[in-house]
Amino acid sequence: MQVIIAGAGIAGLSLALSLHQAGIAVRVFEQVPSIRPLGVGINVQPHAVRELFELGLADRLEDIGVRTREVAYFSKKGGLIWSEPRGMYAGYNWPQFSVHRGKLQMMLHDAVRERLGDDAVVGGTSVTGFRQDRAGVEVRLRGADGVERSERADFLIAADGIHSAIRKQLFPNEGPPRWGGAVLWRGTTVARPYLTGATMAMAGHEWQKFVTYPISRPDPVTGEALINWIGELKYEPGAGWNREDWNRKGDFADFLPAFEDWRFDWLDCPALMRAGGECFEYPMVDRDPLERWTHGRVTLIGDAAHPMYPIGSNGASQAIMDARVLARAFIDHGMTGDALDAYEAERRPATTRIVEANRGNGPDHVMQVVEERCGGVFADIGDVLSREELEQTAAGYKKIAGFDVDTLNSRPSIMPLRQSIPA
Ligand SMILES: Cc1cc2nc3c(=O)[nH]c(=O)nc-3n(C[C@H](O)[C@H](O)[C@H](O)COP(=O)(O)OP(=O)(O)OC[C@H]3O[C@@H](n4cnc5c(N)ncnc54)[C@H](O)[C@@H]3O)c2cc1C
Repeated sequence: MQVIIAGAGIAGLSLALSLHQAGIAVRVFEQVPSIRPLGVGINVQPHAVRELFELGLADRLEDIGVRTREVAYFSKKGGLIWSEPRGMYAGYNWPQFSVHRGKLQMMLHDAVRERLGDDAVVGGTSVTGFRQDRAGVEVRLRGADGVERSERADFLIAADGIHSAIRKQLFPNEGPPRWGGAVLWRGTTVARPYLTGATMAMAGHEWQKFVTYPISRPDPVTGEALINWIGELKYEPGAGWNREDWNRKGDFADFLPAFEDWRFDWLDCPALMRAGGECFEYPMVDRDPLERWTHGRVTLIGDAAHPMYPIGSNGASQAIMDARVLARAFIDHGMTGDALDAYEAERRPATTRIVEANRGNGPDHVMQVVEERCGGVFADIGDVLSREELEQTAAGYKKIAGFDVDTLNSRPSIMPLRQSIPA
């Protein structure tokens, strides 16, 4: 086997498809026995959508997601601070999609099975560590039955998420992820879409925030869509919280009372959240950027490499970008360590900048500025913030995150297009 990937999340599956597109043999080991559609909503930004389209997945993405039309920021009183079109509505050659994370993962998994074969993803098998020599990597595996074995490969790519076992082997003293003080309660509700019908809306400020966006197209009969929502509260440093887990059930009593009067003329936030019936709790965590990802024949991608706060909707998009750049590096440099070095030289500085920008609230910073200047109450936003300030914040973040419209539209494809596989 040429390449072994640890983890069949969005990073690992995007990499498997990209390596296959490049003609490189690959196998993915995933710790859960069978992949189930877990999670709630995520956004795939135009730069990552471009990559999925160039993998021949455009129709499937259209089937499972909704083209985001605009992003809008509101104060805690529901007053509009700033809105801007998104995806093709903003002049990109590719849309932005809001989608259920689990559906995106299943879509990628189905494509891997169809193109690479049923045994390309081996479930119920954790990658527990590795040993490498000049000739290759010996990857240690543990089955669901606890039986240990190993397999050899030319390269091992760790796509095993924020608790990566490979990262832990490489950086044994790193410790747990870093909690910035915020807790997110996330859920979905079937309801009528608000505003444009495909608006990603954010209201509040750094200490209390509400985020929502539809992740399905409206049902033609009922007019209702699946709406993703997040209630977020930030606590003073020192307040303890449990270990992050995407599937831990949350308790409405912990956050809903704080949002009770967030009833705007465009949306009743507490009613939407309550109608979801269940929610998941997730402390907002990341990790300090690393000074090195690549160790000989082993490197990190996705959340294993650069877990970031879910601000600016970039976690999945950056994972997809990693996968594409790494596959391209193998094409350019052959199956050599130089490929891993070239990948890291491009992606590590780029993602470090995003991790750092997200710690400063990324594009959401304007909401905090409005809260500090007027407590969220204004008749004319122009009296609180100048248009230039608003535009600079939005444009600055897009440049950092690599989806500035002119740059994206004018740059060549990462992977040679002649190798694209049609859907
Ligand atoms: C169950 C789940 C639900 C999520 N839900 C959301 C959400 O609702 N909204 C959101 O914004 N983000 C969510 N995320 C995070 C989001 O998917 C990632 O931030 C982003 O997509 C980058 O993906 P990744 O593939 O790098 O990491 P992940 O999505 O974390 O995928 C890592 C994969 O590796 C597997 N794995 C872990 N350790 C090992 C090991 N030792 N050996 C083999 N396999 C291993 C995991 O089971 C998982 O499938 C979720 C992640 C998970 C795992």
